[in-house]
Amino acid sequence: MSREVSVGEVASLLRDRGPALVLTGAGLSTESGIPDYRGPDGQRRVTPMSHQEFCATSAARQRYWARSFIGWQRFSVAEPNAGHRAVAELQRVGAIGTVITQNVDGLHQDAGTRDVIELHGSLADVECLTCGERTDRDLVQAFMDDANPGFASLALGLVGDGSRVSSQIRPDGDIVLADDAVQTFVPPRCLVCGDDTLKPDVVFFGGSVPKPRVEQCFALTEAAPVLVVLGSSLKVMSGYRFVRRAAAHGIPVVVVTLGPTRGDAETTHRIDAPLGVTLTALARELAARLG
Ligand SMILES: [Zn+2]
Repeated sequence: MSREVSVGEVASLLRDRGPALVLTGAGLSTESGIPDYRGPDGQRRVTPMSHQEFCATSAARQRYWARSFIGWQRFSVAEPNAGHRAVAELQRVGAIGTVITQNVDGLHQDAGTRDVIELHGSLADVECLTCGERTDRDLVQAFMDDANPGFASLALGLVGDGSRVSSQIRPDGDIVLADDAVQTFVPPRCLVCGDDTLKPDVVFFGGSVPKPRVEQCFALTEAAPVLVVLGSSLKVMSGYRFVRRAAAHGIPVVVVTLGPTRGDAETTHRIDAPLGVTLTALARELAARLG
């Protein structure tokens, strides 16, 4: 059962048991200006586009890309925060090993963390659902920029009444955009087959993580001396299943996140606190003990 502990106690556990497996969620990136789908109360605040919806119609993909075109301009300039930097430092001193992240923002890598498994993929990569062609998001963004002159200004409300766009950016890079603006948007097409079936290489809600990736994460979990969960309420089975697997193998589970989680039954060490300051303190303690 979950027990609230001090930073010092977690530091001792990681020092004694050594390099922990880490699982990170949206809560770690909120301090970089990328909001969580769920608030601290664990309730979902926005409903994202589902995998089924995206695949079903050209209109849905047009809506996704129009919103994502705008969202990417902010998403792509987000920078790692103190929590990401602390994770990189914890890895550098040997307190943690592989980092499995549910985030698609690439901020762990930007902070210098190596050995990162992007469980839900990366927004920086785009794939064609028809022919399998893969391309960089930056190239797709450049195409959309050329094909939609003035759209960014329109959408951002720099012209017109300013009420066309919400400033709310979502964890998948999406934003809220009015239908009439969306309908004027020219969506990207695959340069190889010409279809309008380009999809960011991320797992949408209702989609599934590729099986080999899941198996790799289960194997890492079973071999881990400790599992540390950072910034996740564990509401999504995609991450929660590794916590359950760890508990089933008697592996200690540390959870550092703000607000309630659904993993209380499996959690052995719990810190309910903001990530940035807490992880900075943890990294400092471990650097002093191990560095
Ligand atoms: Zn194609």
